[in-house]
Amino acid sequence: MAGTGKLTMTRQRKAILDELASTDSHPTADELYDRLRRHLPRISLSSVYRNLEALSRAGMVRTLAVAGSQKRFDADTREHYHVRCSSCGRVADVPLEPMLQLDKEAARLSGFDVTGHRLKFVGLCPQCKAGQAHQGRAHTGHEEANEDA
Ligand SMILES: [Zn+2]
Ligand SMILES: [Zn+2]
Repeated sequence: MAGTGKLTMTRQRKAILDELASTDSHPTADELYDRLRRHLPRISLSSVYRNLEALSRAGMVRTLAVAGSQKRFDADTREHYHVRCSSCGRVADVPLEPMLQLDKEAARLSGFDVTGHRLKFVGLCPQCKAGQAHQGRAHTGHEEANEDA
């Protein structure tokens, strides 16, 4: 990883980064705290929050804002897309090439200097799909209609 820069790499920050890099589940601060406590019993939830904010400001972790629920964090800071399960809320990576052409096209149509775009996929994860098949019950997802990116 390039340019880790100005941020002082304390032991806790290192542990948080390592823990985050070891999972692709895009955990919330609370979930990370639960995992970190296993090997750092004295770590506090507030220091996990504080360190995540600092790491995020330094560009070393990505923050995924999800309307109506807790922020999730990602150690993969490269441009990539996510899909969120409309039933259980879990977030997974979508290994699509970043659509840079989209930025150019948006710039052309709007006259803006477009610096990026946010694209989030929504759907039903394999686990929920399987669970649903078992119960033979249709899930409409209508309660997600007011979800915002
Ligand atoms: Zn799901
Ligand atoms: Zn991701």
